Amino acid sequence: MPLVSMRQLLDEAARKGYGVGAFNVNNMEQIQAIMEAARETESPVIIQASRGARSYSQDRFLYHLMLAATELYPEIPVVLHLDHGNSPATCKSAIEMGFTSVMMDGSLMEDGKTPSSYEYNVRVTREVVAMAHAKGVTVEAEIGTLGGIEDGHGAGGSGLEHLTDPGQAEQFVKDTNCDALAIAIGTSHGAYKFTKKPDGSVLKMDRLIEIHKRIPATHLVMHGSSSVPKELQDIINQYGGKLKPTWGVPVEEIQLGIKNGVRKINVDTDNRLAMTGAIRKVLWESPEKFDPRDYLKPAREAMKKVVMQRMTQFGQAGHAKEITPIPLEEMAEMYRKGQFAAR
Ligand SMILES: [Zn+2]
Repeated sequence: MPLVSMRQLLDEAARKGYGVGAFNVNNMEQIQAIMEAARETESPVIIQASRGARSYSQDRFLYHLMLAATELYPEIPVVLHLDHGNSPATCKSAIEMGFTSVMMDGSLMEDGKTPSSYEYNVRVTREVVAMAHAKGVTVEAEIGTLGGIEDGHGAGGSGLEHLTDPGQAEQFVKDTNCDALAIAIGTSHGAYKFTKKPDGSVLKMDRLIEIHKRIPATHLVMHGSSSVPKELQDIINQYGGKLKPTWGVPVEEIQLGIKNGVRKINVDTDNRLAMTGAIRKVLWESPEKFDPRDYLKPAREAMKKVVMQRMTQFGQAGHAKEITPIPLEEMAEMYRKGQFAAR
């Protein structure tokens, strides 16, 4: 089936009460790992590419790999999403290439580092919503600012510095009519999210629940939501790595989020850890090996295992066959008629 609209997938997830993992990719092995995991668990899935991934893969390589994925796995509904678009121009180029969903992150200025004003955020988000919805493409926005930096993008800091204000989130959805909203509740990008298992003082699930009560029709997105399992850290360190002890977002907190309006969960670090651990193990145990397939195959397998686990934990497993893709032109028509207007 063709690439599908993220709005359609998230609306369906909301009806059935599950969450959908959004996994980042840069290359063929990562796309294959996700598609294999989706096939085995019969999951609809979101595959996302950051600006860094688009430049690493020269954009067209990535896009054609995604087309290959839809050909080889015709039974799996897949969204191709732009992660952290920094400007309307970046979103425009993604839409023109065939992405079915874009994130306009106007919580930061175009440099991807400096927190912006509310007015700036509304202005750029509205611009992207107008452009994207006219083509049936979904828009994720962000209000509040996450911690940490990844792929050169992020405000840094702890994640507690610019938490999302629930009243402002409500106003923002009215002002922009975005489809999905990333919120800041204490999470950060990258591997070093928390210095111990997070409790309510650093991971603000209460705030998430309050935001959902105010905007129940808006799909919430949790960024920086890798769980950073100790087993994956241990494999890396056992085979010569040097990771410092760190904690991610526990799966049970994500599941609580899913009960309270979270429909998209971004996971990148866990997959990076799994692949790197598998590669280190092969090279450590068999230093005579030099065929890239000898370590890329186990790396792909390790990532597939993590993705399958998340798909089951988020509840998307088993739901692939319930989705018949709505063509983007039809989605555009529905947006035009105001069928998705903010309520
Ligand atoms: Zn993010």
